[in-house]
Amino acid sequence: MTSPGGRSLEEEVRAQVAAWLAAAWDPELSLAQWRARLADSGWACPAWPREWCGRGLPAAAAGVVAQEFARAGAVAAPEGAGLNLAGPTILEHGSDELKRRFLRPTVTGEISWCQLFSEPGAGSDLAGLRTRAERDADGFVVSGQKVWNTSANHADFGLLLARTDWDAPKHRGLTYLILPMRQPGVEVRPLRQMNGHASFNEVFLDRARVPAGNVIGDPGRGWTVALTTLAHERRLAPAARRPPAHGPAGRAAREAAEESERAMAPYRWYPQRAGRPDLVIERAIAAGRAADPLVRQEIVKLITLAWSARWTAQRAAAARALGRPPGPEGSVAKLASSNIARAAARVHAMIAGPAGQLAGADDPAGGRAGIISEIFLSVPAVSIAGGTDQIQRTILAERILGLAREPARDAGVPFREVVSSG
Ligand SMILES: Cc1cc2nc3c(=O)[nH]c(=O)nc-3n(C[C@H](O)[C@H](O)[C@H](O)COP(=O)(O)OP(=O)(O)OC[C@H]3O[C@@H](n4cnc5c(N)ncnc54)[C@H](O)[C@@H]3O)c2cc1C
Repeated sequence: MTSPGGRSLEEEVRAQVAAWLAAAWDPELSLAQWRARLADSGWACPAWPREWCGRGLPAAAAGVVAQEFARAGAVAAPEGAGLNLAGPTILEHGSDELKRRFLRPTVTGEISWCQLFSEPGAGSDLAGLRTRAERDADGFVVSGQKVWNTSANHADFGLLLARTDWDAPKHRGLTYLILPMRQPGVEVRPLRQMNGHASFNEVFLDRARVPAGNVIGDPGRGWTVALTTLAHERRLAPAARRPPAHGPAGRAAREAAEESERAMAPYRWYPQRAGRPDLVIERAIAAGRAADPLVRQEIVKLITLAWSARWTAQRAAAARALGRPPGPEGSVAKLASSNIARAAARVHAMIAGPAGQLAGADDPAGGRAGIISEIFLSVPAVSIAGGTDQIQRTILAERILGLAREPARDAGVPFREVVSSG
């Protein structure tokens, strides 16, 4: 695509954002002052509409803008569930009133978000959730329990999926609410994982209040709205969760680094959960196993798998940039990442031997103390988070291969009857 001046859209966007940053970026502003300027410019979320803190550009422009921000060392919009999940969901389904109240403070970082979807009995079967929201004169009264909620311990608002109609079939009785987290009816308890990190929380809701105006989409249509949030969640590349390297020192950069430290803390172990195939050669050399033909064979198998997956992802990205509809590449990517993570953990185990189980001061590998044991304990998460391997296989079978659909026992049945039949 070319602009009237003959430049490609990418060159045009690059030139525009660079010129704006040259004039506007001032590291000595406070973070709040800088983010206000950024939100007004539309460069914080270039793919969002102009009237809502964006510039109405194609999604692909965001990468070019991010590169220019990195080049200038300028602070970008805050990371986390706000820009990635809440913003796109409100933009697609929210009223103008919700957009006015929530989008700009999300872009400036004045408010932060968490996602309240999964429950102890509703993970793969998310539409079977049982958190109850009952209407009263002022809004909704919510009781139930959520789990696996990243950042719920410091979020201002939760994206809450709750059941408002028990007589409708399970997908049709859900409503999507914006829950104020700081209130007496909301109790957040951190969960510690087997790898030692505490990234998630349980959230207990006991007559928590949601104002009547905080419904995204129509009551009872929450499932459709939730699908938008889930689609954006799946699109979230792990790389986007790495802490940004804020360039020069300055007040805005310092304050942004503190903000990022807190927002990114839950994701510190995510590189290890991917199995770290990038580390196997280095580790084989360090352990004196690089000449072992069996080790070499396993490394080559792993690298082949990892590179094929990377090229498939690049093909999918190129197709998207050309405006083609999503193909099967996206569906296989999640399953491929599970397989790669497990294969990488096996190769690391082969190289490290029993010493790989040691962590902290006991780890003889020094430098990267405990990283191998952290890989072993983190890799299983890839096969569960964002939809289990079994569920991914069902999706591939039904939507890509066109095989018979899994029988839906409770389709069309009022949810109240599903619950009472156990
Ligand atoms: C690291 C991590 C991060 C997470 N982050 C979030 C988050 O940010 N937000 C959020 O809401 N949730 C999050 N989750 C929760 C995650 O979405 C659920 O754990 C997942 O969907 C599985 O649900 P479950 O744990 O209830 O297991 P279940 O659904 O009870 O599944 C148990 C087992 O049964 C199998 N199974 C279930 N149904 C079927 C079926 N129909 N066919 C074949 N096999 C089936 C599953 O594959 C699995 O092996 C996270 C989980 C992890 C591990």
